[in-house]
Amino acid sequence: MKEKICVTRPYRFCAAHRLHTNALPDDVNRKIYDKCNNPNGHGHNYTVFVTVTGELDPKTGDVTDVEALDRLVNRKIVERFDHRHLNHDPAFQQVVTTGENLVKFIWDELVNDVPVGQLEKIGLIETRDNYFEYQESVLSEPQAT
Ligand SMILES: [Zn+2]
Repeated sequence: MKEKICVTRPYRFCAAHRLHTNALPDDVNRKIYDKCNNPNGHGHNYTVFVTVTGELDPKTGDVTDVEALDRLVNRKIVERFDHRHLNHDPAFQQVVTTGENLVKFIWDELVNDVPVGQLEKIGLIETRDNYFEYQESVLSEPQAT
């Protein structure tokens, strides 16, 4: 079995949003999203967990470059969302700002730009009781023989 070592860094941003989809009538939106459908929106103190895996460098004992990862996540995620209204972001004009869609978006933004190692998982705390995760399936495609 191959070993896997992961490093997870937390990042925080505060943002407003409103759960609403134009694909459904207003009364259905109110029923599905309840108080999160409030037209004035509401805010969260989000915490994003970015997990990276990689080859253990025997000299440094590291699997990634934490400072470079911090620069990437701060530039692409924290600066983009902190103290903003997520529904006004171009990425969420047709996509509801649920935690599920946010973790998927954050994964897509980071996956090709991790400086050292590979992205393993994105976690997102939205509220005390809402935690979301995104990772690619560990099952590999069947190999043609
Ligand atoms: Zn909310």
